[in-house]
Amino acid sequence: MRQRFGIGYDSHRFGATRTLILAGVAIEHETGLLGHSDGDAVAHAVIDALLGAAAMGDIGQLFPETDQRWKDADSIQLLREVKRRLTAASYTIVNVDVTVVTERPRLAPYIPAMRENLSRALGIPLHAVSVKAKTNEKMDAVGEGKGLQVFAVASLGGA
Ligand code: MG
Repeated sequence: MRQRFGIGYDSHRFGATRTLILAGVAIEHETGLLGHSDGDAVAHAVIDALLGAAAMGDIGQLFPETDQRWKDADSIQLLREVKRRLTAASYTIVNVDVTVVTERPRLAPYIPAMRENLSRALGIPLHAVSVKAKTNEKMDAVGEGKGLQVFAVASLGGA
């Protein structure tokens, strides 16, 4: 099996009045993330990692912000669409690994549900989905709580 790797990155600012959503999980916090869709930076970074591994472009090309269809879109549905395209191109998803960098809120209690959602949307076992969280040790904009960052790596097989 030929294996391919992709890297994904996303960042969003805090400040929205809407619910904070990461990997499709509603997280208790006084503010959500600004953005055209639901602001789900975990889903967005995973999408870019998957597309990167397949060299199939990026999230902005597939779901342009100028397209009203994606306004307040449920990003887990976008992730499902990417999975559909990968399957159509004969790729299988081997695993994904995610790191969320945020000063607050504490994500540990939500990680099992986040992994569960990603695993279901991608159709891969739970043990193939890793989500980790850490702070930025109070450094820079993320450390000041202005927003959060997500890094993701995905590995594909097949094609
Ligand atoms: Mg994004």
